[in-house]
Amino acid sequence: MLECIVTKFGGSSLSSDEQFRKVRSILELEPTRRYLVPSAPGKRFDGDDKVTDLLYQCHRLASEGKSITDPFSKIRDRYLSIAQGLHLKVDIESSLNEVEEGIAAGKGKDWCASRGEYLCGLLMADYLGWRFVDAAEGIVFHEDGTVSNSRTQEKLSALLADGESAVIPGFYGAKENGEVCTFSRGGSDITGALVARAVHADVYENWTDVSGFLMADPRIIDGPAEISSITYKELRELSHMGASVLHEDAMFPVHQAGIPTNIRNTNKPYHPGTMISKNAPHEVYVPTITGIAGHKGYSVINVEKNMMNSEVGFGRKVLSVLEDLGISFEHMPTGIDTMCVVVKSDALEPHLKEVTEKIEALVDGQGTVSVSDQLAIIATVGRGMVHNCGTAARLFKAMSRARINVRMIDQGSSELSIIVGVNESDFEATIRAIYHEFVG
Ligand code: ASP
Repeated sequence: MLECIVTKFGGSSLSSDEQFRKVRSILELEPTRRYLVPSAPGKRFDGDDKVTDLLYQCHRLASEGKSITDPFSKIRDRYLSIAQGLHLKVDIESSLNEVEEGIAAGKGKDWCASRGEYLCGLLMADYLGWRFVDAAEGIVFHEDGTVSNSRTQEKLSALLADGESAVIPGFYGAKENGEVCTFSRGGSDITGALVARAVHADVYENWTDVSGFLMADPRIIDGPAEISSITYKELRELSHMGASVLHEDAMFPVHQAGIPTNIRNTNKPYHPGTMISKNAPHEVYVPTITGIAGHKGYSVINVEKNMMNSEVGFGRKVLSVLEDLGISFEHMPTGIDTMCVVVKSDALEPHLKEVTEKIEALVDGQGTVSVSDQLAIIATVGRGMVHNCGTAARLFKAMSRARINVRMIDQGSSELSIIVGVNESDFEATIRAIYHEFVG
């Protein structure tokens, strides 16, 4: 029997009074759903506005000394229509007036953006009859704008210690001096994870408008299979390569605390969604691969130097050229006298000449340095790989059958993923070949 579930609802789940009703019936289905973290109202239809975008627009206009009446009236209408549609008692008009005055008076960007969640939280708390807990009281940011894990844990768990059901707005918190700070876009997912950790939740449910993760991008694979169960480590690999449903930083607090995250669909409340956990349960059937994700836009720096193998510190020197310019590297397969460093092309481009010259100086006439671009990287991820031999053979055979040339191979020591680099023009064909080999 589950004892405590923290729920987070995304913007599309809260875009109208009709969506609010769906949220309440989801909560009523399971009384252990005792905490709710809302985003700001999102789009109701294609072309509609997200409240957060409108708030950023208001802030920009106010900082240019221009009127915010137009965009703010759209914000006002949205909240009023939800409040009226649900016959709420809360005095949302006064709160809206305070927000409008604050923005017009030049309040900071983060404060302005955070009001979307704040106002949505006020409505939701009133609708549910739950306590409203301002995130500025419980989510603590450092001076540099990063979240303080220890202080947040301390303050949030004290605030929620009485176990009473509560609504805690997502996306923001405050520095110790009270100044409001936001996470990056989509950051309500992080708030949800921090709340789940603070109350020692059994599950963190993240409600959105899709039924969890798919094994591959539906723009490339027609109707890809759904992922019912995945580990945090697998998901980290896939989301790094572009599979985005959950904010990347939302995994850390819950993963660390051993709390599973369940991605659910507000519009299909009985669909089990995707369960993300530290160790995927044994009874769940594990196919060899869990998912495939990839990205275009990479470059490879190929370095060849005689006797590179015996030159202690050569690799470090090459990487420090990149480090000094703030370029992070993605992969680094090496040979005896060769190394190739894979980096994002847009990060390398502005420094291309300097990087090449500096590495050439390290090679010192004893080899070559070349850079090639238009590389796509594809990660095939699966905890099942460790237990199955021949996974790599099947993957490369499928690629060779599709006549795809492999430009780079990298397999992490965890045996959790096989990374291949191919020409950008082969990107989609590679994903299709791998998917059909393993999934059918
Ligand atoms: N409302 C914020 C955004 O649009 C945060 C969130 O929805 O998670 O990015």
